[in-house]
Amino acid sequence: KKFVFMFDQAGSSEKELLGGKGANLAEMTRIGLPVPYGFTISTAACNAYFEAGQVISSQVEMQVIEALQTLEAKTGKRLGDPTNPLLVSVRSGAVHSMPGMMDTVLNLGMNDETVEGMAELTNNSRFAYDSYRRFIQMFSNVVLGLDNYYFERHLEDTREEKGYHSDTELTAEDWKQVIKEFKTIVLTYTKKSFPEDPREQLFLTINAVFDSWNNQRAVLYRRLHHIPGHLGTAVNIQSMVFGNMGEDSGTGVAFTRNPSTGESELYGEYLINAQGEDVVAGIRTPQPIASLEQDMPDVYQQLLETCQLLENHYQDMQDIEFTVESGKLFILQTRTGKRTAQAAIRIAVEMVRENIMDKRHALLRVDPDQLDQLLHHRIDPEHNLTKLAAGLPASPGAATGQVVFDADEAEVLSKDGKKVILVRPETTPEDIHGIVASQATITSRGGMTSHAAVVARGMGKACICGCESLKINLDSKQFNVESTTVKHGDTITIDGTTGEIFLGEIPMIEPELSDEFKLLLSWADEETKMGVRANADNSVDAQKALEFGAVGIGLCRTEHMFMDSSRIPTVQSMILSETMEERKEALDKLLPMQQQDFETIFETMQGHPITIRLLDPPLHEFLPDKEDLLIEVTKLQMKNADASELQEKQNILRKVRLLEESNPMLGLRGCRLAMIHPEIYEMQVKAIFNATANVMKRGIKVKPEIMIPLVSHVNELKEMRQLVNQMAEQAKDETGQEFDYQIGTMIETPRAALTADQIAEKADFFSFGTNDLTQTTFGYSRDDAEGKFLQHYVENNVLPRNPFVSLDQEGVGKLVESGVELGRKANPVLKTGICGEHGGEKESIQFCFDLGMDYVSCSPFRVPSARLAAAQATI
Ligand code: ADP
Ligand code: MG
Ligand code: MG
Repeated sequence: KKFVFMFDQAGSSEKELLGGKGANLAEMTRIGLPVPYGFTISTAACNAYFEAGQVISSQVEMQVIEALQTLEAKTGKRLGDPTNPLLVSVRSGAVHSMPGMMDTVLNLGMNDETVEGMAELTNNSRFAYDSYRRFIQMFSNVVLGLDNYYFERHLEDTREEKGYHSDTELTAEDWKQVIKEFKTIVLTYTKKSFPEDPREQLFLTINAVFDSWNNQRAVLYRRLHHIPGHLGTAVNIQSMVFGNMGEDSGTGVAFTRNPSTGESELYGEYLINAQGEDVVAGIRTPQPIASLEQDMPDVYQQLLETCQLLENHYQDMQDIEFTVESGKLFILQTRTGKRTAQAAIRIAVEMVRENIMDKRHALLRVDPDQLDQLLHHRIDPEHNLTKLAAGLPASPGAATGQVVFDADEAEVLSKDGKKVILVRPETTPEDIHGIVASQATITSRGGMTSHAAVVARGMGKACICGCESLKINLDSKQFNVESTTVKHGDTITIDGTTGEIFLGEIPMIEPELSDEFKLLLSWADEETKMGVRANADNSVDAQKALEFGAVGIGLCRTEHMFMDSSRIPTVQSMILSETMEERKEALDKLLPMQQQDFETIFETMQGHPITIRLLDPPLHEFLPDKEDLLIEVTKLQMKNADASELQEKQNILRKVRLLEESNPMLGLRGCRLAMIHPEIYEMQVKAIFNATANVMKRGIKVKPEIMIPLVSHVNELKEMRQLVNQMAEQAKDETGQEFDYQIGTMIETPRAALTADQIAEKADFFSFGTNDLTQTTFGYSRDDAEGKFLQHYVENNVLPRNPFVSLDQEGVGKLVESGVELGRKANPVLKTGICGEHGGEKESIQFCFDLGMDYVSCSPFRVPSARLAAAQATI
């Protein structure tokens, strides 16, 4: 088997085998660009190395030696030859680029003899010794595992002693001395002398570079970017070119376009008389690429042309590493450049305008996940920041405000025009008004799909969850992070995109949907075969949804309408009522409010479809907290308060206890609630039809899609369907209006998915509620799972991803798939969609598209990225 490939031998598009760096070096060699010659050891060899227990097989070893001989013949130099030594770099390079995460060694082949040869050959002993000490430093760090600090500290001492400001001032003699001391450092810390045999150096380094696939940084980077751990890295061995030969040499990095703004201009930095790692390590401040035009006009011109050529060749913005040796340009690497969302969009749009690619390709160039960045306020990156703490980045965007610890207070202060940030140990639905009123929310407990996070994201509000280092003291109204105390009223700034919390106020930059962004999304819509709807519970969200290009509402939750503080008393008296009469009375009061809610949403949506989900959460969520009540009762008793007041509180407490469930998530909620108390859904359905009739009279078409939550047996839906139809009949009689409506259900329990054929006979549409379906399929309670073990699972690869963020296609996805298939078989005109958090996530969207769903629905702020993802799924 072939494990080693010369740059001019490798076939094209073998990224899997050669890694990104190797494949592109081979490609550039074939194009005829000035690439120092070399060869690539494949990722397959890396995997074989690990399988054999971190041993390079003799087969690979032989192929490496053979390739080395080819390289020696081609360059006319030999590894270890004292009169004409070959020096090489040994470079990592994985399939997915992980810049700087793995290891590379330069100037390999240097020893006490070859350094003399180099000095003589180049007539430049300073250069030779500088290269040698660089090699000792890198090799010791990468291969021998010595901290670079020992060497840097020694260098610093030397500079100080000699009164130098930078390394370039060190003479050949100085370097000779440094090298001696470097070797002593190696001997002291490794108990072995520095290996002088170049072959030994080579194979030790190859081992080390393979090993660097599993170093901490690389593992973390892979986890963050969902790069699988089994791919392995290739190793590139390449003859050295020297940017440290003098004033007519140098090294640098160039982007073919500005990666921050997307502007079409050469963007980069370089250093004269230096080697590659100097630019990134920041030992010296590099110069802007523009001044290269003065320093080396010919090289600059050639670099410009090469950049153009590479960008056209790869049809994407390139990030290029180059080195100039005695006035001659060499290209050492090219890869697709990482960029901000803003830049990504501008580059995609301009590349279409410049006829470099067509629209469909341009759409694939932008990552939907990145678009979030564009829709929220951002911290001015130019500003200096002092970080206080960090939690889970639950909802992106940045915000500044005064710290408050109470939802009611947040509401009061914000009505006075104050900007506040709500800090809570955790949040419950009772805090929603506080979240609404605040600029942002921070919790010290709970994960990224906690209630607070879901709500905050829905509103496009920044939110940080599970910030464990915050020690909140609600009594003294302050929180501590280690020794820092932040008091009620103090100003802080948070970045929901990174999960960071800062002290004080930091200036913000306004988000705006650029014209280019809108244009790109309009191209997306031309391709899309699946609708993107939004989850919206009120007219403000509905308006946002339309603005962001949603084609309708896929999930209008009705419980949030009950949480308004002015309605809560009525809602509570409905729940607490002892008799049917009492309950009906309370419901009669809620009816006009609910009807008004629907009217404004219908009007806002101007005929676009709306799926309304009837009441879903357990009733106790609308009641006061038991502990709070208990305290109140005790206080009243102590005060010898008015008997009737005490009795009332006690009564509420009794009811709260009665409604208490040991597992509310699996208790009396959703359609089960309506099976026991049909009058609640009757009121809601009546409100829907009354609102429909009124809005239709104003000339707006409304075709409500009424959705029954949490069905697990067809009989539940059968009964609810009857209820809705009856109410429609009744409303028709009362208003004289004919209604065009649909009745559907959420598919959010495994049983519903497994019996979807039976259920589909009673449903006009299915909406897969993948949040609950994930909970019930895994048997995880989301709120408990995220904080307690899910993070551990993901970090330790027990689960590839958090299933509440990206749909678990193997498990939950199977249920969704069978749900769609069974449903369609029984009811060919069944409409299907998804409305969980997953509806806005690109991989889940692809999955829904592959199943032939009609639409996905997500929070309004995710609609733009979902539109792009839906287009990408189609292409
Ligand atoms: P990373 O993946 O961390 O960027 P590289 O393998 O690209 O690591 O190496 C880092 C730098 O070392 C490169 O940017 C380049 O400037 C320099 N370098 C690598 N190989 C050579 C070489 N053969 N000749 C000269 N410089 C090199
Ligand atoms: Mg590089
Ligand atoms: Mg649900």
